[in-house]
Amino acid sequence: MALLKILRYPDPRLHKIAKPVTEFGTERLRKLVADMADTMYDAPGVGLAATQVDVHERVIVIDVSETHDQLIVFINPEITWASEDKQVYDEGCLSVPGIYDGVERPAKVKVRAYDVEGKEFTVDADGLLAVCIQHEMDHLMGKVFVEYLSPLKRNRIKAKLQKEERGMEREAARAGGRR
Ligand code: ZN
Repeated sequence: MALLKILRYPDPRLHKIAKPVTEFGTERLRKLVADMADTMYDAPGVGLAATQVDVHERVIVIDVSETHDQLIVFINPEITWASEDKQVYDEGCLSVPGIYDGVERPAKVKVRAYDVEGKEFTVDADGLLAVCIQHEMDHLMGKVFVEYLSPLKRNRIKAKLQKEERGMEREAARAGGRR
């Protein structure tokens, strides 16, 4: 089990655009997906995009089950249909710890993607799964959910997280000094 470091907003690397995966079934891709799943379950979270662990390829892992045993791996996902009706859901993000806010998105989507071996599949998603797929696909386009919020809210969140980051750095420096 390997845990990957999750980038925190407003890290500029969260705004990089991911490239499609071109080689399937490789040891490297299997390891990336396994490490991403470990990292997501450990956090704990219901979804993680490769962008969040500084790998800029179109790979997402999601598990919205209560039992944490229904992992879905989406590689090169594309939304082929989105419903007219929308839903507002209080979203959170492993890259924006402690922040939750309402985002409006299509209530249902159809997604086409590939698994690790390159086999194509489609998913009809609604509820939390639909929210999660759209949230993670935004990451692959370099978009973080706070960008749906008002500039005022977004700046407040940015300031709060930057302050926390500085606090963590000071703490690390102090711990280093004691050694
Ligand atoms: Zn996120």
